[in-house]
Amino acid sequence: MRFGTKLIHNGNEIDEETGALSIPIYQASTYHQRDIDNFGKYDYSRSGNPTREALENTIAQLENGYRGFAFSSGMAATSSVLSIFSAGDHIVICEDVYGGTYRITTKVLSRFNIEFTFVDASNVDNIRKAIKDNTKAIFLETPSNPLLKITDLKGAISIAKEKDILVIVDNTFMSPYLQKPLDLGADIVVHSATKFIGGHSDVVGGLAVAKNKELADRIYAIQNSFGAILGPQDCWLLLRGIKTLKIRLDVHQETAGKLAKWLREKEQVEEVYYPGIEGHPGREIHFSQASGAGAVLSFKFKTLEQTKYFLNNIENAAFAVSLGGVETIVSYPAKMSHAAIPREEREALGVSDTLIRVSVGLEEFEDLVESFSKAII
Ligand SMILES: *Cc1c(COP(=O)(O)O)cnc(C)c1O
Repeated sequence: MRFGTKLIHNGNEIDEETGALSIPIYQASTYHQRDIDNFGKYDYSRSGNPTREALENTIAQLENGYRGFAFSSGMAATSSVLSIFSAGDHIVICEDVYGGTYRITTKVLSRFNIEFTFVDASNVDNIRKAIKDNTKAIFLETPSNPLLKITDLKGAISIAKEKDILVIVDNTFMSPYLQKPLDLGADIVVHSATKFIGGHSDVVGGLAVAKNKELADRIYAIQNSFGAILGPQDCWLLLRGIKTLKIRLDVHQETAGKLAKWLREKEQVEEVYYPGIEGHPGREIHFSQASGAGAVLSFKFKTLEQTKYFLNNIENAAFAVSLGGVETIVSYPAKMSHAAIPREEREALGVSDTLIRVSVGLEEFEDLVESFSKAII
């Protein structure tokens, strides 16, 4: 079955009890047991809830995995997955990983003696060099934020296979529509479902998918112990968002491609970062592992004055953190996602004061171009 059809018909779209074409929001914390010798499937909603289960089964199917898990945020998904490791374990992680992932690894998990080495993963040799005897996993994010740097997933996975190391991929930017890391041999996928999967800037949620039963059991033990589960209302919103994932991303992406090309022609713009444009580093690798360029692009103005003018004057777009919503979201990494990184270090990473990230929404291209034109001086 093709992906767009699978979004609508995956075996989790009809309520088994009633036939309802929308999975009910099972707003229940506990479940009556009818028979002391045979308890029902559900006993307590931290351990299992039918609305959450429909979402978890759906994402498992979309990522071609064994089992899915829904968490209270993308960070809860990532933190829970990383909690399957133990003191003394070492993990290789890409240096331009999401800021929250950087924070949980360096500020929290490090206190539990899980050790991390940050590498520029756009060259897989750096991953190989960082592997030690106690390395248990490689954590990757591609394309990365905000410069859309590409990691060769197949290359990294083959290194990991040689050494019997797990590969975890944060697939938020691509969604399972455009990239399926498990099909490429990765072991666990995590998502901030807050972004494209939810798609409407109205829910914070996270998802994880394990490739096999062994890993699923380990993640389930953490989900049930740690308890960072997603509530049934929010599960329902994600189930609803998922149905239009393909059709939204098709339009997001087409407009993003046109906008990237348009921006590149502007004399005020110094550089455009988007896997869809010619010359983007790692572009061939990206298209060997993903079926599209996605809907997030970044660009640099030539001057700070142009940058400020743009951010203060852009219309028909939100100036905000986050991405993946129906509305175009313009963000300023220097003062938003990367504000905690000292200026020099930030500049060295390529996140200058003139860099702007755009999550291209569903507005019509011509209107976006008009709005952008007015804000570019
Ligand atoms: C937003 C984001 C996260 C964190 O997700 P939350 O839902 O905000 O907790 C993780 N990874 C990436 C790539 C993100 O964009």
